[in-house]
Amino acid sequence: MDWSDSPDQATFRKEVHDFIRERLPGPYRGKLEGGDGESDGETFTVGWQADRKSDDPERRDTAVQWATALAEKGWIAPHWPKEYGGAGLSVMEQFIYNQEMAKAGAPSVGGMGVSLLGPTVIVHGTDEQKEQHLPKILSGEVAWAQGYSEPGAGSDLASLQTRADRDGDDYVINGQKIWTSGAQYADWLFALVRTDPEAPKHRGISFITMDITTPGITVRPLTDMGWNQPFNETFFEDVRVPARNLVGDENRGWYIGMTLLDFERSGISGAVEYQRTLDNLIEFLGSDEGTEVTRQDLDTVRLEIADRRIETEILFNFAFRIVSMQNRGMVPNYEASVNKLFGSELHQRLSRTGNKAFGLYGNLWDREVGPMGAHFVRDYIGSVPHTIFSGSSEIQRNVIATRGLGLPRG
Ligand SMILES: Cc1cc2nc3c(=O)[nH]c(=O)nc-3n(C[C@H](O)[C@H](O)[C@H](O)COP(=O)(O)OP(=O)(O)OC[C@H]3O[C@@H](n4cnc5c(N)ncnc54)[C@H](O)[C@@H]3O)c2cc1C
Repeated sequence: MDWSDSPDQATFRKEVHDFIRERLPGPYRGKLEGGDGESDGETFTVGWQADRKSDDPERRDTAVQWATALAEKGWIAPHWPKEYGGAGLSVMEQFIYNQEMAKAGAPSVGGMGVSLLGPTVIVHGTDEQKEQHLPKILSGEVAWAQGYSEPGAGSDLASLQTRADRDGDDYVINGQKIWTSGAQYADWLFALVRTDPEAPKHRGISFITMDITTPGITVRPLTDMGWNQPFNETFFEDVRVPARNLVGDENRGWYIGMTLLDFERSGISGAVEYQRTLDNLIEFLGSDEGTEVTRQDLDTVRLEIADRRIETEILFNFAFRIVSMQNRGMVPNYEASVNKLFGSELHQRLSRTGNKAFGLYGNLWDREVGPMGAHFVRDYIGSVPHTIFSGSSEIQRNVIATRGLGLPRG
C-alpha cells in the first residue's frame, strides 16, 4: 500500500499548510509553534464557538478573523457540495485538509451547523430553509446546538418525550433536553420532538429548528469534573415555533435526524492529535525539565509509551481505512464504530500514561506549575466523556457485534 501523496495531493497539502501558516490568528497558533495549544492561556481552549461570544474583545476578534479567512477560501464546510457554498473537496482532499488542520491545532469553525444541520438541510430542507440557514453557517455568523438527548433518552433516543403540539401555524414545545453542547454560545437549535405520542416511538418524532432566543427557552450550563461548562440543560416552556421550521415531514424526524450526513467520519483529527501529544510527551521526558519531574526510570511507563505509540499508529490506519473506503464510493458502517471505540479508549489510556509518567507531579492542576502545562491531568478528566458522547462504547460494541461480526441481537 502506498501512503504517500500523489503530485496533486501534495500540491493541495502545501496549499492548506501555507494557508494555515499565513492566516491562523496568533492566539490559535499555540500548537503550530510547538506547544500543546494551551500555551496562550485557558481562555483559548474552549473552542471557536465560545470565543465568538466571549466578553473579551481579543477572543471575539480571533474567532471572527479565523472564520473570515476560512470563509474566503470556502473552507468552513470543506465537504459540502459547491452548489451550496461548500468547497466540494474530494474524500482524499478532505482527509488532507483535516490532517493539516489537526497538525496545526487549528480550531474548526461552524461546529454542528457545518457537520450536522447544514447537510441535513441540504438533503431534506426546503429552498427557503436552505436560503435562510446555509449562508449564515458558511460565513460563521450563526452557530448551532443539537437538542436530541433528554434525561430519560440517551442511547435509547427514540424514547424522547419533549412534546411539540400543532396550534395554528405554530408548534408549541414543552419539555427538556440535556447535554446540549455549546447551547449557551449558540444562536439556533435543532431538535427532535414528539409530534405524535400515540404512534410507535420511532414514528411520532419530528425534526425542528428554532432561534435559541425564542421566549420560553431556558439554557442552563452544566459544570463538568474539569470545572468547564461544555454542555447545558435546555428547557422548553410553551415555546412557539413556526411550523415552517419543520425539516422534512411531520413524524419523519427520526429518519431525518439519524441519516448519516456527516461525510467526514474518518476520525483523522483525533489520530493526528494523539500522535502529536505522544511526541510532545516523549520530547519532554527526554529534556532536563522532564528528567526532574518524571518517573521515566520506571519500566512500566516506558512500556506503556511504546504501547501508546503502536496504538496511535493503529488509529491512524483505521482512519485511513475509512477514507480509502469512501474514496472507492463505499459507505463506512461498523468501521466508523471501530474507530470511535478504539479512538476514545486510546484517548483515555494516553492521558493516563502521560499522567503516570509524572508521578505525584501529575496531580498538579494549575497550568503554571503542572508539568507540560498540566496537560495530562486535565486531559485525564476531559477524556472521561469521550466513551459516552456520539454513542457510548457499549453501543459501538453492539454495532460491531451485530453489523460487523453478524452476531444475533441479544
Ligand atoms: C460531553 C458530552 C456532550 C454531549 N453533547 C450532546 C449534544 O450536544 N446534544 C445531545 O443531544 N446530546 C449530547 N450528549 C448526550 C449523549 O448523546 C448521551 O450522553 C449518550 O447518547 C448516552 O446517553 P445517556 O447519557 O442517556 O446514557 P444511557 O443511554 O442511559 O446509558 C447508560 C449506560 O448504559 C449503557 N447502555 C445503554 N443502552 C445500552 C444497550 N442497548 N446495550 C448495552 N449498554 C447500553 C451505556 O453504554 C452507558 O454505559 C453529550 C454527552 C456528553 C457526555
